[in-house]
Amino acid sequence: MSDLAPRARSMDGAAVSRRLLDETARRARRYAEEFGRRPCLAAVLIGKDPASVTYVTMKRNRCEQAGVDFRLDVLPTAVSTSEATATVRGLSEDSTVDGILVQHPVPPQVDERMVFEAIAPRKDVDGVTMHSFASMAFGLPGFVSCTPGGILRLLDAYDVGLAGAHAVVIGRSPILGKPVGMLLLGRDATVTYCHSHTQGLSAMVRTADVVVAAVGRPRFVQGDWIKRGAVVIDAGYNDGSVGDVDFDGALARASLVTPVPGGVGPMTIAVLLHQTVVAAEGPVGEALEGSTE
Ligand code: NAP
Repeated sequence: MSDLAPRARSMDGAAVSRRLLDETARRARRYAEEFGRRPCLAAVLIGKDPASVTYVTMKRNRCEQAGVDFRLDVLPTAVSTSEATATVRGLSEDSTVDGILVQHPVPPQVDERMVFEAIAPRKDVDGVTMHSFASMAFGLPGFVSCTPGGILRLLDAYDVGLAGAHAVVIGRSPILGKPVGMLLLGRDATVTYCHSHTQGLSAMVRTADVVVAAVGRPRFVQGDWIKRGAVVIDAGYNDGSVGDVDFDGALARASLVTPVPGGVGPMTIAVLLHQTVVAAEGPVGEALEGSTE
């Protein structure tokens, strides 16, 4: 790259998430002063998967920093779907719990969808229920899936224009690829979803103004797939803290790129906590109370 060529910027998800966490902490403090208790996030962990334990611990630590109470139910690895569902239903009915998080993946004998659907939509601060997905897709009040919500906040923080942009989303999982595409569509981007059956993936990516990589394969997206000046969001997190995008290759062509770590990752937990405080404060919860739960 010549010295005169524009240089891409690395998007600082850590800094943007800190601002959101600061605002969340202020609102949590105000809530506690007004209602005499702190907002409360209840997490359900099934089994002892080390990665899941790490994620739950990170969430507990962030809650402490933000002035949000954290409650943890640990269920045995061999738990049945009905037992797990009953635990979540109990939390849905508990008036001292504002938000519910079911740490996933769950063991194979547990029907994850059934357990998710036991979360009351007004407490679905991780945005995993069908109700939340439909609300998001229709542009109605509700909670968004946290990583997609964090990606949109990051794009907004860097003033990325989405209306009319061509966004290529690689991946279509229910918690990441599909919802991020719906949120981008809701912001008037023209969205192309790619997945494992997509033909001519690299050519598709070369037409993208915004690329979201949510594949789960280290450095899968090559630098020379990136259109000059594109914005590249790497949602991947693989062993060794490696993303789904060849960061250096993308940096040579893009205008903005998220690093791994320090890009999308910190946004996810910040959105989770933010939505927990919003759930406690009520407006989204109240809007959902009046809808068909
Ligand atoms: P997932 O459920 O495994 O989905 C992966 C998606 O990639 C699927 O839709 C799959 O297509 C697609 N795919 C696989 N191989 C492909 C190929 N060769 N070409 C095109 N598409 C391909 O994964 P996920 O849960 O969405 O997670 C994706 C990544 O994001 C992982 O690295 C994960 O660790 C990371 N993640 C990060 C956060 C965070 O907070 N930063 C949160 C969640 C996930 P098919 O549908 O056709 O199989």
